[in-house]
Amino acid sequence: MTLAVRYLAARTLDTAPAENPPPGPGQVEIAPAYVGICGTDLHIFHGDMDARVAAPAVLGHEMAGRIVRVGAGVADWSPGDAVTVMPLRWDDTCPACQAGHQHICQHLDFIGIDSPGAMQQRWT
Ligand SMILES: [Zn+2]
Repeated sequence: MTLAVRYLAARTLDTAPAENPPPGPGQVEIAPAYVGICGTDLHIFHGDMDARVAAPAVLGHEMAGRIVRVGAGVADWSPGDAVTVMPLRWDDTCPACQAGHQHICQHLDFIGIDSPGAMQQRWT
Protein backbone atom coordinates (compact mmCIF):
# COMPACT_ATOMS: atom_id res chain seq x y z
CA MET A 1 0.00 0.00 0.00
CA THR A 2 1.15 3.51 -0.72
CA LEU A 3 0.09 6.77 0.85
CA ALA A 4 -0.86 10.15 -0.55
CA VAL A 5 -1.19 13.60 1.00
CA ARG A 6 -4.65 14.93 0.21
CA TYR A 7 -6.17 18.39 0.32
CA LEU A 8 -9.63 18.06 1.91
CA ALA A 9 -10.70 21.64 2.63
CA ALA A 10 -9.19 24.99 3.57
CA ARG A 11 -6.20 24.39 5.87
CA THR A 12 -6.91 20.68 6.07
CA LEU A 13 -4.66 17.93 4.70
CA ASP A 14 -4.55 14.24 5.55
CA THR A 15 -2.73 11.13 4.46
CA ALA A 16 -4.66 8.24 2.99
CA PRO A 17 -4.05 5.03 1.06
CA ALA A 18 -3.61 5.74 -2.63
CA GLU A 19 -4.49 3.76 -5.71
CA ASN A 20 -1.40 2.43 -7.38
CA PRO A 21 -2.42 1.06 -10.78
CA PRO A 22 0.29 -0.21 -13.08
CA PRO A 23 1.35 2.33 -15.71
CA GLY A 24 -0.66 2.13 -18.91
CA PRO A 25 0.67 2.41 -22.43
CA GLY A 26 2.99 5.38 -22.72
CA GLN A 27 2.94 6.03 -18.97
CA VAL A 28 5.59 5.69 -16.26
CA GLU A 29 5.27 5.15 -12.52
CA ILE A 30 7.50 7.41 -10.45
CA ALA A 31 8.63 7.23 -6.82
CA PRO A 32 8.72 10.94 -5.91
CA ALA A 33 11.71 11.73 -3.71
CA TYR A 34 11.08 15.44 -3.23
CA VAL A 35 8.01 17.59 -3.84
CA GLY A 36 8.14 21.37 -3.70
CA ILE A 37 5.41 23.45 -2.13
CA CYS A 38 4.77 26.26 -4.58
CA GLY A 39 2.80 29.46 -4.08
CA THR A 40 -0.08 27.88 -5.99
CA ASP A 41 -0.11 25.01 -3.50
CA LEU A 42 -0.40 27.56 -0.69
CA HIS A 43 -3.36 29.22 -2.44
CA ILE A 44 -4.99 25.80 -2.68
CA PHE A 45 -4.18 25.03 0.97
CA HIS A 46 -5.79 28.28 2.07
CA GLY A 47 -8.96 27.38 0.17
CA ASP A 48 -8.58 30.12 -2.44
CA MET A 49 -8.85 27.69 -5.36
CA ASP A 50 -11.78 25.56 -4.19
CA ALA A 51 -13.73 26.50 -7.33
CA ARG A 52 -11.09 24.71 -9.41
CA VAL A 53 -9.67 22.01 -7.15
CA ALA A 54 -11.92 19.02 -6.51
CA ALA A 55 -11.27 17.71 -2.98
CA PRO A 56 -9.95 15.29 -1.99
CA ALA A 57 -7.04 16.27 -4.21
CA VAL A 58 -3.46 15.04 -4.28
CA LEU A 59 -1.35 18.15 -4.82
CA GLY A 60 2.23 18.51 -6.00
CA HIS A 61 3.46 19.72 -9.37
CA GLU A 62 7.13 20.43 -8.63
CA MET A 63 8.95 17.20 -7.97
CA ALA A 64 11.99 15.03 -8.48
CA GLY A 65 12.11 11.27 -8.23
CA ARG A 66 12.95 8.03 -9.97
CA ILE A 67 11.04 5.85 -12.37
CA VAL A 68 9.82 2.60 -10.85
CA ARG A 69 7.90 0.95 -13.71
CA VAL A 70 7.20 1.76 -17.33
CA GLY A 71 4.13 0.99 -19.39
CA ALA A 72 3.92 -0.64 -22.79
CA GLY A 73 5.59 1.31 -25.54
CA VAL A 74 7.84 3.39 -23.28
CA ALA A 75 11.29 3.13 -24.83
CA ASP A 76 13.09 6.28 -23.67
CA TRP A 77 12.82 5.72 -19.91
CA SER A 78 13.78 2.85 -17.62
CA PRO A 79 13.31 1.97 -13.95
CA GLY A 80 15.90 3.83 -11.87
CA ASP A 81 16.09 6.87 -14.15
CA ALA A 82 16.03 10.19 -12.29
CA VAL A 83 13.22 12.43 -13.51
CA THR A 84 11.31 15.60 -13.01
CA VAL A 85 7.96 16.35 -14.65
CA MET A 86 6.57 19.23 -16.66
CA PRO A 87 3.12 19.25 -15.08
CA LEU A 88 1.08 20.34 -18.10
CA ARG A 89 -0.98 18.25 -20.50
CA TRP A 90 -2.70 19.97 -23.42
CA ASP A 91 -4.99 18.66 -26.13
CA ASP A 92 -3.26 20.06 -29.24
CA THR A 93 -6.71 20.54 -30.83
CA CYS A 94 -8.18 23.75 -29.39
CA PRO A 95 -7.64 27.20 -30.98
CA ALA A 96 -4.98 28.12 -28.38
CA CYS A 97 -3.00 24.95 -29.07
CA GLN A 98 -3.42 25.35 -32.83
CA ALA A 99 -1.94 28.85 -32.47
CA GLY A 100 1.09 27.38 -30.66
CA HIS A 101 0.01 28.49 -27.19
CA GLN A 102 -0.34 25.09 -25.50
CA HIS A 103 0.36 26.63 -22.07
CA ILE A 104 -3.09 28.29 -22.24
CA CYS A 105 -4.90 25.32 -23.79
CA GLN A 106 -8.66 25.59 -23.31
CA HIS A 107 -8.60 22.05 -21.87
CA LEU A 108 -5.31 22.30 -19.99
CA ASP A 109 -4.65 19.65 -17.34
CA PHE A 110 -2.34 21.23 -14.80
CA ILE A 111 -1.18 18.09 -13.05
CA GLY A 112 -1.30 18.44 -9.27
CA ILE A 113 -4.17 20.92 -9.55
CA ASP A 114 -6.63 19.49 -12.09
CA SER A 115 -5.51 15.87 -11.71
CA PRO A 116 -3.59 13.94 -9.02
CA GLY A 117 -0.12 15.28 -8.28
CA ALA A 118 3.16 14.08 -6.85
CA MET A 119 2.51 14.19 -3.09
CA GLN A 120 2.24 10.42 -2.99
CA GLN A 121 4.64 7.54 -2.68
CA ARG A 122 3.97 6.29 -6.22
CA TRP A 123 2.75 8.49 -9.03
CA THR A 124 1.72 7.33 -12.49
ZN1 LIG B 1 -5.62 22.94 -26.42
